[in-house]
Amino acid sequence: MSFVFVSGNPALDLVGTVGSRRDKPVDLLAAPADLEQWVRECDELPDRVTADAATFASALRLREALHQLALDRLECRPFTPAALDTVNSAAARPVPTVELGDAGVRLSGDLRSALAHVARSGIAVLADPDACLKECGRSGCTRLYLDRSRGARRTWCGMEGCGSRVKAAAYRARKQAAKQGLDPAATREPATRAPADREPGHPK
Ligand SMILES: [Zn+2]
Repeated sequence: MSFVFVSGNPALDLVGTVGSRRDKPVDLLAAPADLEQWVRECDELPDRVTADAATFASALRLREALHQLALDRLECRPFTPAALDTVNSAAARPVPTVELGDAGVRLSGDLRSALAHVARSGIAVLADPDACLKECGRSGCTRLYLDRSRGARRTWCGMEGCGSRVKAAAYRARKQAAKQGLDPAATREPATRAPADREPGHPK
């Protein structure tokens, strides 16, 4: 398994490890080994950490708390106190050590320190009034991401396929509507289809 990091922030990417396949939630962090791999693949975190059962459980609690706070932020309501406690106490721990060398930056630390970094990144985003936090525009995709595009016009999470799937579905709907003589506007937002997409002539 390989993870994707498309949210522009490790805390949002952690939240995105609960995904959906055909609109059914899928948890990509099913076991401690999955979390170890996620940390390894995340650029901002140490390469080698070990997840025991307790730290794994606290990582999942942190993920849920970050998700809750992000939803609070999206809904413009006060943060949920219990979620704040979870994120703040994770962030209070020591973060990974950073060393510069000829090969670049080397990060070292244990899983707790990695989670502390993730929590701090989450806090930085959630506290930033200028951070443009969004949910992916494809129905069925619940990924959150930071829109840093000019004019904040990004619509999709950046997950391979989200944009092209929406475009392909809209293209099919328009064709269908044209065939039946319907108004294309009435058939926008078609149901989510299985992956496989990329309409010829309609690249991402
Ligand atoms: Zn998406």
